[in-house]
Amino acid sequence: LDADVIVEGAGPAGSAVACDLARRGVDVLLLDREAFPRDKTCGDGVPPGSIEILNALGMGDKIRSAGFYPIRGIRIGSPSGRTWDAAFRAKRAGAEFYVAPRREFDALIQGHAVESGARFERAAVKSPVFDGDRVVGVRVEGNGRERRLESRIVVAAGGATSAIARALRPGPKPPGRHRSVAIRAYVEGIETLANRVEFYFDKAFLPGYGWVFPLGADRANVGVIVRVDRYRKGAASLEELMTRFLESRAIGGRLKRGYRVENRRSWQLPNGSGRPARKAYDGALLVGDAASLVDPLTGEGIHNALVSSRVAASVIGEAISAGDPSFSRLAAYDARCGEALGPLLVRSSRVQSWVARAPWWVDLLFSVADANPSQTESILNRLSSDFVVRVDD
Ligand SMILES: Cc1cc2nc3c(=O)[nH]c(=O)nc-3n(C[C@H](O)[C@H](O)[C@H](O)COP(=O)(O)OP(=O)(O)OC[C@H]3O[C@@H](n4cnc5c(N)ncnc54)[C@H](O)[C@@H]3O)c2cc1C
Repeated sequence: LDADVIVEGAGPAGSAVACDLARRGVDVLLLDREAFPRDKTCGDGVPPGSIEILNALGMGDKIRSAGFYPIRGIRIGSPSGRTWDAAFRAKRAGAEFYVAPRREFDALIQGHAVESGARFERAAVKSPVFDGDRVVGVRVEGNGRERRLESRIVVAAGGATSAIARALRPGPKPPGRHRSVAIRAYVEGIETLANRVEFYFDKAFLPGYGWVFPLGADRANVGVIVRVDRYRKGAASLEELMTRFLESRAIGGRLKRGYRVENRRSWQLPNGSGRPARKAYDGALLVGDAASLVDPLTGEGIHNALVSSRVAASVIGEAISAGDPSFSRLAAYDARCGEALGPLLVRSSRVQSWVARAPWWVDLLFSVADANPSQTESILNRLSSDFVVRVDD
């Protein structure tokens, strides 16, 4: 065997599961086709629940000294141009909402996994290796040669295009209403709102939105997310939607002379629906985007990726210490992941499809929120697991 556990992909999901397992004394080999630090197309918004999970893996000091940009408020724009503002703080001490450029954020987790004892190798996973129906390793390509690596368990953490997930879940992709695409850029020379993220539910993007996530006084991660079925029906490309957002009433006037739009990139988001979908296979578990766990309403995937990694590490850790990595043990992952994420994904899917079917819902919600600030506050505080919200006057 080359390792007890081989992890495909060192994004947040893969590095967190590798780190967690290494801290439990499991021999882990973490693979990524890229060297770190590397960019990942993202909005870079990392909610407090994610930071809590990383703190529990011993990353508290590293995160506090990384200089990520803290967020303490939100502005939401409605389709008709109204805005709603609120302040928030993390529910529990020791965590914040950060805008953390993924180039640095992911390298921090990957480095911590290695410090915790995981071995890292730069190699692209081509496919799983099977013995009958059981996954017993991976075929990889690195340094110009192909090799076969063997392990007791393989974790698929290669994100939206995971080679392991593709082999284990053959057939067509899920329908367009269960997937989104998004474009983001780093804008230099934009007047940002200090420590406040902005979401705009423009009619052209619904049930998606445009965002401005600040990285400083005049720098922000700006992007647009749209659902794949809606995107296919519309005439505009992602580039055009981005330009339209940058020229919109909410943003256009805040771009300073000589502003620059850098590093424009798009990528896909595999949304979770909350319906039970298989994530545990004989010899393999799927985590993060490879398991389609992005929140369909918000487009956030980092927190769910880290939750799935925590659940996967505990199931794998128990299986390995019992000396029984059989499917009957790994199957517990599906149920435990469902308990941890199912209700949230079901709720987000429902709200997202209401918004998609009847966009006036968003404006109605704005009117109700405006008329009832304290009730809105208490509903949001009941729904949120990691924020305490205070609606602005
Ligand atoms: C434009 C955009 C904006 C977003 N904004 C946010 C946001 O603000 N907040 C948020 O929470 N989520 C956001 N998301 C979603 C978020 O980026 C993902 O949910 C998150 O990155 C999932 O983490 P992961 O570790 O599962 O996968 P990834 O981060 O995609 O990591 C996968 C890793 O696997 C590697 N890899 C892939 N294939 C292979 C292979 N065959 N062999 C070896 N290595 C491989 C890749 O190089 C990569 O390092 C956004 C997504 C997009 C596209």
